[in-house]
Amino acid sequence: MRKPLIAGNWKMNGSPELLETMTQSLASAQISSSVDVAIIPPFTLLTSAQGLLADSPVALGAQTLHPESSGAYTGEISASMLVQCGVTCVLVGHSERRTLFGEDDQAVLARVRAALAAGLTPVLCIGETLEEREADRVESVVLGQVSAVFDALSAEERSQLVIAYEPVWAIGTGRTATPDQAQQVHAMIRAWLSDKDPALGEGMRLLYGGSMKADNAADLLSRPDIDGGLIGGASLKPDDFIAICHAA
Ligand code: PGA
Repeated sequence: MRKPLIAGNWKMNGSPELLETMTQSLASAQISSSVDVAIIPPFTLLTSAQGLLADSPVALGAQTLHPESSGAYTGEISASMLVQCGVTCVLVGHSERRTLFGEDDQAVLARVRAALAAGLTPVLCIGETLEEREADRVESVVLGQVSAVFDALSAEERSQLVIAYEPVWAIGTGRTATPDQAQQVHAMIRAWLSDKDPALGEGMRLLYGGSMKADNAADLLSRPDIDGGLIGGASLKPDDFIAICHAA
């Protein structure tokens, strides 16, 4: 009953040329309508993407947002600005934002609230570092990041989110979590959500991210609690990204 979502996070990569190639490739790929697809290019490409995706089922996402709606925040972009560019979902709490830009759980929550208030779907990214995994702290870290957001939201708000589990040690490293490792954490997150509210657990889309590629996607996506992928590196190559969409 959960519709898979494959989302391509371009990070600080891409060009108008790649955007054109990607949107054309996606348009001719005949991806099943039982899969949701989103591309998440940098801010500078959003307006062009909005035009190129006007008649497409492919959704447009943004990589971050500022929690305030407007004001003296040089260099920042608000939720309503994203909506004006045709954006419908936004990453929040990506590990690169947490570690490189100091976004803690409170900053993540503020961004989730701003996204929800503007009608955007927040894709809440969570995941443990290698040190945390080796110290047997996966559960406390991951559920801590989930509860910091979910405990502060209403039942209605919670149901609007998507969660992306991205073990930090697997991001951009070529080292993917095994399907068993990923499934185990996804099942744990879903159990926590179901404990709060069975319908929430049942309905929540849990994406896996971290070196998901064309050749390992089908195996990961076949697991019962893995409902899609947040793809970094492989989302910059149209053939690879489309292969992952087909695998879903
Ligand atoms: P990766 O990135 O697929 O390049 O590991 C995933 C992500 O950071 O979302």
